[in-house]
Amino acid sequence: MPSVTMEKSLSGWGGYHPVKCAVAVPASRADLRQLVADASGNPHLLIRGLGRSYGDSAVEPAGTVILQNHLDRIRSFDRTAGLIRCEAGVTLEDIIQVALPHGWFLPTTPGTKFVTLGGAVAADVHGKNHHIDGSFGGWIRSLNLLLADGSECECSPEERPDLFWATIGGMGLTGMILEAALQLRPCSSAYFRVTYRRCRNLEATLRAIEETDGSYTYSVGWIDCLGRGDRLGRSILMLGNDARPEDLPAKLRSQPFHVPRKRRKRVPIYFPDFALNRLTVSAFNRFYYTVHPDREVVVDYDTYFYPLDGIHDWNRIYGRRGFVQYQALFPLATAERGLRRVLETVARFGLASFLAVIKRSGPGNPSPLSYLFDGYTLALDIPNVGPRMLEMSQQLDKILLEEGGRLYLAKDSLMSSETFRGMYPRMEEFLAVKRSVDPENRFTSAQARRVGLIPS
Ligand SMILES: Cc1cc2nc3c(=O)[nH]c(=O)nc-3n(C[C@H](O)[C@H](O)[C@H](O)COP(=O)(O)OP(=O)(O)OC[C@H]3O[C@@H](n4cnc5c(N)ncnc54)[C@H](O)[C@@H]3O)c2cc1C
Repeated sequence: MPSVTMEKSLSGWGGYHPVKCAVAVPASRADLRQLVADASGNPHLLIRGLGRSYGDSAVEPAGTVILQNHLDRIRSFDRTAGLIRCEAGVTLEDIIQVALPHGWFLPTTPGTKFVTLGGAVAADVHGKNHHIDGSFGGWIRSLNLLLADGSECECSPEERPDLFWATIGGMGLTGMILEAALQLRPCSSAYFRVTYRRCRNLEATLRAIEETDGSYTYSVGWIDCLGRGDRLGRSILMLGNDARPEDLPAKLRSQPFHVPRKRRKRVPIYFPDFALNRLTVSAFNRFYYTVHPDREVVVDYDTYFYPLDGIHDWNRIYGRRGFVQYQALFPLATAERGLRRVLETVARFGLASFLAVIKRSGPGNPSPLSYLFDGYTLALDIPNVGPRMLEMSQQLDKILLEEGGRLYLAKDSLMSSETFRGMYPRMEEFLAVKRSVDPENRFTSAQARRVGLIPS
């Protein structure tokens, strides 16, 4: 069966500025190869996973957007070594379902399991354990790529390392990932011991993270980004370690990898624009802070890693105009000042949402476009209220540039090419690899043109 092509309105998860795109769904690898080989019919190509990047990384009105629904097979799984090789359209949820019963879990995971393996590699995603285990790319042992000239190639940290590392975090611009081999990490249950710790302001939050870093594999904080004065940066830290079977309640000990199924909820409609305002968000934040006293609990992986996956279409609470996510990274040396300036700006504009997350990041990896280095990241959702949102994000960009910070491509919707250049000093290194495998810039995206990775 040949590829199906249709026109669809696409956006990222933030729902900001949807645009009409030509979307192709190849039915097989042969169709996919044909589609890529047809350079005159499809001069520009973009691969889309599950569209969980927030901005326009997986959107391209000026080309053909390829969905990878048919690339969903697990090719091999070595249960002794924990090495799994999958096609790129396999989701992290699929991998958990196959690997967990055998005592293996994802080496690191973003805050949703509804992402494809291809999308996780292309964004070099990170999780709550970056300070210990690094990002996703460090766990990829090899990649199989479909290049712009229609050829396939294998690359790894040993074989064509330049292409391998440019593809990790390369946002789909070096070619299409067809398959990836991922090293999983061993676990002895599907549960985690989580310590909740309240911190009354930013200084206390950073101090607590520093103090606990060595004792917890996973560390993340929820920040009330509307707190002001001596409550600026108040937070609840959620610090986690793997639970052993003996840590579990008696009824779970005999089947430590079993997690009872939960019913998912759904946000049935887009919320009206007035529903989310300073008053409602402040009230929610006060409530959230109050109902999370310091305590220790044992929870399953879904509850700890993927709380938002329990609510389908939660992005609709931001209404039809959508939202952008702003994920700022500051180096250790300027983190406290930079975070304070960001939080003060956000509180002044009164535009932030409830979902602000702070994490400690560890050293980066060899990928020229990979996001993280040693420091702190703060991710917050900003509702699209038009010019005021744009003004605030420009002020935040300026702070980031002044403090040596960086924005995350998988979350970005608004960054200018000047800002990108200032934040990604190894851009030219990436472009040299791209030119060697894709001289005509066939693999592209709306974001790549906006930030200057592709001429517009
Ligand atoms: C609720 C939520 C929480 C999140 N939490 C985190 C987090 O904690 N940490 C984090 O790092 N990220 C996080 N993210 C972001 C998300 O993990 C990334 O954006 C991820 O890339 C999305 O994967 P996807 O399959 O949806 O890809 P898409 O969003 O569809 O695509 C993302 C990029 O990957 C490229 N791509 C996809 N498939 C391929 C392929 N086969 N070959 C080449 N390129 C490809 C696309 O071209 C695009 O540039 C979160 C997102 C959500 C919605």
